[in-house]
Amino acid sequence: MTPVTVAEIEAAIRNVPDFPKPGIQFKDITPVLADARLFRGVIDQMLDGVTPGSVDKIIGIDARGFIFGAAAAVQLGVGFVPVRKKGKLPWATHEQSYDLEYGSNTVAIHVDAVSPGERVLLLDDLLATGGTAAAAMNLLERLGAQVIGVTFLIELKFLQGRARLEGHPVRSLISY
Ligand code: AMP
Repeated sequence: MTPVTVAEIEAAIRNVPDFPKPGIQFKDITPVLADARLFRGVIDQMLDGVTPGSVDKIIGIDARGFIFGAAAAVQLGVGFVPVRKKGKLPWATHEQSYDLEYGSNTVAIHVDAVSPGERVLLLDDLLATGGTAAAAMNLLERLGAQVIGVTFLIELKFLQGRARLEGHPVRSLISY
């Protein structure tokens, strides 16, 4: 298989205007997922520079972060931990509320999902205002995790979400 280029991934992302509300241009990544070569290419590139043994767990954010996070965890041979929307996790949780590009939300993590000192890589599909990722980071810090990186497929630079993740190595494959 020929290596996947960022341009190919970018070309497959579908821009949906005014979803889920007027003024939002939704970045639909489902065409990327539906193409086996592109999907693998995204995972390969998200894990670029991540050496085996340098990460203990991958953390994925509800819901599209699960897709990339779970695939990346299997590829790297490490465990996967979900950061879920409030009310979905069955065991004892830590919770953190935040504002997002459209509306507000609360995310949660199981209190025993990550052990103190474990090295984690946080993955999500898209960085917009950074509220979601900052809330997830807050949960991880409360568990004593060592966040070695935060990686997104897409970054909406004009929303300056990166500023809310200051002090952490943030990577994105595609920015707008
Ligand atoms: P934020 O907390 O503002 O950084 O928002 C990031 C979260 O909202 C991610 O989990 C994305 O899946 C989703 N999101 C925000 N804006 C968009 C957008 N324009 N297109 C697709 N997903 C988005």
